[in-house]
Amino acid sequence: MADLIFASHNENKSREIRQLLPDFQLASLKDLAFNEEIPETGDTLEANAAIKADRIFAEYHKPVFADDTGLIVPALDGAPGVYSARYAGPEANAQANMTKLLKELESKEDRYAYFETVICYIEASGEKHFFSGKVEGHILESQQGEKGFGYDPVFCPKGEPLSFAEMSPEAKNAISHRGRALQAFIRFLQPD
Ligand code: IMP
Repeated sequence: MADLIFASHNENKSREIRQLLPDFQLASLKDLAFNEEIPETGDTLEANAAIKADRIFAEYHKPVFADDTGLIVPALDGAPGVYSARYAGPEANAQANMTKLLKELESKEDRYAYFETVICYIEASGEKHFFSGKVEGHILESQQGEKGFGYDPVFCPKGEPLSFAEMSPEAKNAISHRGRALQAFIRFLQPD
């Protein structure tokens, strides 16, 4: 039986996390056949990560963690932020979201942006811990690259010549918001 549950249906993320945590028996929601969609009704990344972790802890009473990510563009008052997945509408795909973002930024000079990931971990006692990771950069004028997902083709991390969508997964994970939040979480689980 798993000793840690990852409250996500995203198998790409589960695979990445398994590689980083080889000493843990990690179960994803797919492994547990938990098919319910957990509504992300919070208005912060912390709240949404906690909603997902709480729901799964209530179901299985096992240590669990959940993550939530947003792309924050200060020139757009923080949008898309917690609404990153559905910026261009409830059924929006990544292309529609990027097209909307580029359009909204057309008249703006300031293209500074950052990704932030928050992880909520609930340990066996029910105590909650939060970890976060951030990567700063800017939104490109047009899409570059084919790799990755979401807003990767329009995000260029600070000091890098490439967009996230032009970087290898390893190079992206080493500096990404999610990679950094996971590193903080792993240091907590495995201090040495
Ligand atoms: P989630 O909370 O990880 O599901 O992320 C919410 C939304 O943020 C996703 O649907 C993507 O649009 C965007 N996003 C999250 N992580 C990344 C990333 O690493 N690159 C590009 N977009 C991302």
